Amino acid sequence: PPADTPQVVLDAHGLPYLDKRLPVRKRVADLVSRMSLAEKAGQMTQAERGAMTAPGDIASYALGSLLSGGGSTPTPNTPAAWAKMIDSYQLRARATRFQIPLIYGVDAVHGHNNLAGATVMPHNIGLGASRDPALAERTGEVTAAEVRATGVPWDFAPCLCVSRDERWGRAYESFGEDPALVTSMETVIRGLQGRADGRDLDRGDKVLATAKHFVGDGGTAYGSSTTGTYTIDQGVTEVTRAELEAVHLSPYRTAVDRGIGTVMPSFSSLDVVGDGRGPVKMHARADMINGVLKDRMGFEGFVISDWDGIYQLPGDRAAQVRASVNAGVDMAMVPYSYKEFTGTLLDEVKAGRVSTRRVDDAVSRILTQKFRLGLFEHPYADTRGASRIGSAAHRAVAREAAAESQVLLKNGHGLLPLSRHQKVYVAGSNADDLGNQTGGWTITWQGSSGDITKGTTILEGMREAGGRVTYSKDASASTSGYDVGVVVVGETPYAEGVGDVGNGHDLELTAADRAAVDTVCGAMKCVVLVVSGRPQLLGDLLGRTDALVASWLPGTEGEGVADVLYGRRPFTGQLPVTWPKSMSQLPINVGDAAYDPQFPFGWGLRTGTKVPKGGLDTLRALSATAKAAESAGADRQGREAVGKARLLVQQRIAATLNEATAKPFAEADRALLRGRYGEALSALTRAYRAAGR
Ligand code: BGC
Repeated sequence: PPADTPQVVLDAHGLPYLDKRLPVRKRVADLVSRMSLAEKAGQMTQAERGAMTAPGDIASYALGSLLSGGGSTPTPNTPAAWAKMIDSYQLRARATRFQIPLIYGVDAVHGHNNLAGATVMPHNIGLGASRDPALAERTGEVTAAEVRATGVPWDFAPCLCVSRDERWGRAYESFGEDPALVTSMETVIRGLQGRADGRDLDRGDKVLATAKHFVGDGGTAYGSSTTGTYTIDQGVTEVTRAELEAVHLSPYRTAVDRGIGTVMPSFSSLDVVGDGRGPVKMHARADMINGVLKDRMGFEGFVISDWDGIYQLPGDRAAQVRASVNAGVDMAMVPYSYKEFTGTLLDEVKAGRVSTRRVDDAVSRILTQKFRLGLFEHPYADTRGASRIGSAAHRAVAREAAAESQVLLKNGHGLLPLSRHQKVYVAGSNADDLGNQTGGWTITWQGSSGDITKGTTILEGMREAGGRVTYSKDASASTSGYDVGVVVVGETPYAEGVGDVGNGHDLELTAADRAAVDTVCGAMKCVVLVVSGRPQLLGDLLGRTDALVASWLPGTEGEGVADVLYGRRPFTGQLPVTWPKSMSQLPINVGDAAYDPQFPFGWGLRTGTKVPKGGLDTLRALSATAKAAESAGADRQGREAVGKARLLVQQRIAATLNEATAKPFAEADRALLRGRYGEALSALTRAYRAAGR
């Protein structure tokens, strides 16, 4: 052991909690009954590895957890160094009375994105566009395998935010604006954790997942906060009770059913119209955390606060700790102030302002997950899976996800797919930039442009596909003699805050991108690809582009984008959010009374496939079930049935061949959303007639 390891008398010999044949419940009860109050407070504390003053603090404060904040990586940033680093911390935890292992957490929000050379998936917005729950599950499997193989058993993902305003700086972390769509993508939780009963968690290739940010993070109103730059990211979500349930809470029911291990409250405040309380920070909302999440939904995992989230509450440190723990926060992410937190918590318990029952409940919840993860039996990294990190098999999943996430918004002259015989002129800021196409939470917290990790850019993918490609980023090379131009524009990386600072809040293209589109589209038929975390406004340039693709943030496998460009795979993606005409329409969401977007939610043209048969009958049956269930007052079943029916319609939208059929399908979807079943059926009939079925 390291020289400064305190000499402790280990009590951990032959005690019941060490017996893995006993049920987890009994092991937890046995261990909790032996722990001191200080040890319990320590379990409820999470420090940041880089912010920790000395590794000896792990034992001195009996810390329960450490995290790597975005980009807090070991040097060198390799799988072996990660495992070694975490093992060294685990060794410190072993030098405590009961040898309670640490639980180490990272933000692996699109693959093991902190690790150089890992497989980086499209961000959630792209997965939502794929409408492919089985694929989302496989991305979760790959992420879990890569994360666990570096010794990390816990992932702060997925974000279950339902993004209601594209100006929100974290819109790219959302599967979409529609709760049914978000819910359908929660298969990713099974990919990460395995079976809902937690039996796969100790397998060596699974991690504990986190549903975040509870609740309403995607619903913050624009301009509602007074904290300056964080206008919308950490603002106020003002909703009616009904909207809260239907839009923001509903994905959490499914997460709890899937056995989600942890939940993270949102930095934002919730203002429920008519409850008379005004905006209250989520970290202090006992009615939501204790009441809805734990009591009503039956969540049995533990609640981890967001980064210093408890210190955004009003009052002094004591008031903040008391309010959050009593509201149901079980573990505090207090990166720098872990010593202070444990001290304050101890004082509050001694003064009787936080009950020992509450503390025991929190500690029991945390220990339950540690037992389930097998950390008591195997505290050290099992690196046998490390050879799979960034492997061809894993990259194939990311490539498929990149391909399926591409949404074909417009396809004039049937320009796409391209043929390898065509001479193609490629330009734009995001054609050959791996950092821009992976976005935030990649290697560093906010991400950065350039060659930041291993992967292929879109340009490289096009070359690899055998395309006859000439590249000129700023379109300064001569434009004569080409069959088609491909201009790849969009955002530069960001993770939190208001988003792409260069673009401000306006979602408009940069001057350089506008110039590239202008030059190329003025000289030849052109395709514009938008690589961004949210829709971008092309303004007057829209009419000048022949074909338009929403590429989102496709990750490290640019080849996946090239696959659909060159017709090796069909375009099948559909808009996970509404694509607005102008800033003045924001916020705009499907179901709004006056809905007049540029491209509606669910929009997406297909290349290469035909409309499947039989959809109308299935849909008729599903709508009837939904209608019956709703009128019988069975709210949840009714909502689920409507959700299923809507997904089916959305799949049909994706399956349409052209804009004439996609439009009535989109109308049917909107009608279903508003509960107008008759209207939905007639729109569907029109759609099928237009599609020739
Ligand atoms: C983010 C969380 C993240 C945490 C830890 C916070 O700033 O809001 O999503 O899990 O940092 O990195």
